[in-house]
Amino acid sequence: MTHSYELKTGRSAASTEEYPGGASRIWTDIDLDAEGKTFGYFRLPHSTHEHGAYWIPIPVAVVKNGVGPRVLLTAGNHGDEYEGQVMLMKLLRRLRAEDVQGQIIILPAVNAPAAYAGRRVSPLDGGNLNRLFPGNPDGSPTSKIAHFVESVLLPKVDHVFEFHSGGASDDFLPSAHVYYCSDRAKFERSLHFLNIFGMPMSVVNKGLLGNDQKMYGACVRAGVTHMSTELGGAGRVSVEALRLAEQGLARILFDIGVVRKPLTDVPAPPLSQLYTRLPTRKYVYAAASGVFEPYVELGDRVSAGQPAGAIHFPDTPWREPEVAVFGDSGIVFSIRSIAQTVLGDSLFMLAVPWEE
Ligand SMILES: [Zn+2]
Repeated sequence: MTHSYELKTGRSAASTEEYPGGASRIWTDIDLDAEGKTFGYFRLPHSTHEHGAYWIPIPVAVVKNGVGPRVLLTAGNHGDEYEGQVMLMKLLRRLRAEDVQGQIIILPAVNAPAAYAGRRVSPLDGGNLNRLFPGNPDGSPTSKIAHFVESVLLPKVDHVFEFHSGGASDDFLPSAHVYYCSDRAKFERSLHFLNIFGMPMSVVNKGLLGNDQKMYGACVRAGVTHMSTELGGAGRVSVEALRLAEQGLARILFDIGVVRKPLTDVPAPPLSQLYTRLPTRKYVYAAASGVFEPYVELGDRVSAGQPAGAIHFPDTPWREPEVAVFGDSGIVFSIRSIAQTVLGDSLFMLAVPWEE
C-alpha cells in the first residue's frame, strides 16, 4: 500500500494521483504515521540505461508511540561524513517502540547516493544536498531529495538534529552547532540544546553564507528547531567524537521528552565552552595550488599575523612556498585534511569565544 502526504506545492490532481508522494517524485510503501517501529525506503526514481524502472533506496526508520514530540534525525547529508551515519545506524537498530513517546524519524543516509559512494556530493548530479534547499520536485535527484525533506518530512516534525563532520577534505574540533537568531526565546532554546548535547565545544554560527540553502534554512521556513554538529572528519570515524555525540544524543532525546528514559547511562553534560566560527569571508584560503603543509594543529590558539601553513610546488620545488597567514586571532577549529590543494581551498577556520 502506498501513502500520500499533504504537500504545499501545487500540481494538477491528475499528476498528483500519478505520483502518490504528491508534488514530490519520491514515494514510499511504508506508513510514516503507523504506531510501532517501521523501516524501509523512500524511493527516489532514477531511470538509467541499465536500470530502466529503477528507484534509489533512501533508508528510513520510524519509531512511533502515541502522542509526544516529533523528532527527525539525519546524517549522510554529505556522504563522506561518517560519525553521524554510524551513530544513527546503531540507534535505529536498538530503538524500540516502548522506549519512545512521540515519534522519531531516522535517516542515516539522507543523501543516499552520496553516502553509498562515500562522497560529499551525489555521484548522480554533483549535488550538494546542503546547498539545494528548498529543492525542486522536478529538479536533479539531489534537488528532489531536498524538496522531499522540506515539503514532506519537516511539516511532520518539531525538532531536527542533523549530524555533520568535516568530510574527506576537512577535520573539525568535535562540536555542536546552532545558528544565531534574534528571537530571544528561540535562541535560548538553541543554547539549551547545546548545553544538553554537551560537546566540549559549542558553536553559534553567525554570518555564514547561503544559510537559506541549507537544512537549517529549511527548518527556519518550517518553524522547526534545528541543531547540527561537526564530529571530526578527514574521511574517518573519530572514536572520541562518536562517543561524545552518542552521549549527547541520548541526553537530548530525553530532555525533549521523546524517550521515556535516557537510552544509555550517560553522565551529566560536561560544561561546554561557547564559541562562534569566524564567518565565511574570514576563513584562511589557499592562494596557490600545490601541497599544503599546516603549521598548527586543531585546537591551537593562534594570533593575527601568525604564519598558518605553506603551499609547496612539486613541479617547481626550488620555488619558495606560498605562506598563508592567519588574519585573526582565535582557536584552530578546522584544518584541511587533504594535502593536495588548489587555489581557493579553505585551509583553516577559526573560532573565537561567543559574544552576543
Ligand atoms: Zn556536512
